[in-house]
Amino acid sequence: MSLPIREDLRGLTPYGAPQLEVAVRLNTNENSYPLPDDVVDGVEKALAGVLRDLNRYPDRDAVALRADLAAYLGHDLSAAHVWAANGSNEVQQQLLQVFGGPGRSALGFTPAYSMHPLLAVGTGTRWVSGRRDDSFGLSASSVAEQIAEHRPDVVFLCSPNNPTGTALALSIVEAAVAAAPGMVVVDEAYAEFRRPGTPSALSLLPGRQRLVVTRTMSKAFAFAGARVGYLAADPAVVDAVQLVRLPYHLSALTQAAARAALAHREALLATVEAIKVQRDRIVETLRGYGLMVADSDANFVLFGRFPDQKAVWQALLDRDVLVRDVGLPGWLRVTAGTPDETSSFLDAMREST
Ligand SMILES: *Cc1c(COP(=O)(O)O)cnc(C)c1O
Repeated sequence: MSLPIREDLRGLTPYGAPQLEVAVRLNTNENSYPLPDDVVDGVEKALAGVLRDLNRYPDRDAVALRADLAAYLGHDLSAAHVWAANGSNEVQQQLLQVFGGPGRSALGFTPAYSMHPLLAVGTGTRWVSGRRDDSFGLSASSVAEQIAEHRPDVVFLCSPNNPTGTALALSIVEAAVAAAPGMVVVDEAYAEFRRPGTPSALSLLPGRQRLVVTRTMSKAFAFAGARVGYLAADPAVVDAVQLVRLPYHLSALTQAAARAALAHREALLATVEAIKVQRDRIVETLRGYGLMVADSDANFVLFGRFPDQKAVWQALLDRDVLVRDVGLPGWLRVTAGTPDETSSFLDAMREST
């Protein structure tokens, strides 16, 4: 490598979930259901409505979209509490640009979302990998202790957690905010898939200015290709993020498409219940096969333990089923898809283990 790349980036590998042409793709937690026809029509009309004005820059503050997202979230939130960007990845990158950066640190509890450390490194934020217990669990006291030990500027919690699938008790989020000297970001990318009775950290926002909840349209809304993520927080956090966002970062096409999708949210979110049924079917069936399976509040399931998870991953691929090796020795992660995709996965598992 002869390019004068930043020293802290040299030798690193980029994020890279394989994008393979396989019949059954259950490796990136996408929603397997294509957009219904009436939603396609609605998005098409919305896009047609802005095409003539593409000579102009879009609404820099995406106010209408933020108001729609706030209305979707409820919890008495308004546009002033919500910020949107090209995926929650960009939202989290902006948060690190404002609250992290050179000379600052971010703490996450491994295993969690693999992008959190990559975003930290990219923004020059020192990454600290916190601990979980042997069954990947976290407790309020352990989180508070580790925050007190490292004094991070940003704490990442992921609930439901990727790759384990399990949501955090709100007492853990409360303990983190109480202990943290800086910001606490709760990544709720899979919030819509939570099991009944599992609360969202949105309910903790009032009175907690250093708490941020990030969400996305990539999973439950089946809108991964459009790239729309957002956060909810105190309006002061939204103001702070303006310091680092690129002007006009969210295209007029993206804003229009996202608003149309939100207007059709009932049709889009109808798939969530169907996916949860398949998720619970995977959990039960794999436990029936004698495997260890984490409780899941998401649209995916972590399962193991295998003496060699790479061999199982390959055996599934040989049967045209792509799952995810998240780099946890002994474990694999599978996305809950359509009933047919789930059957293909479960059949392939039965045959290959
Ligand atoms: C998939 C996922 C996201 C989504 O990122 P986008 O940029 O919104 O597509 C965020 N967080 C976690 C934990 C995820 O698994």
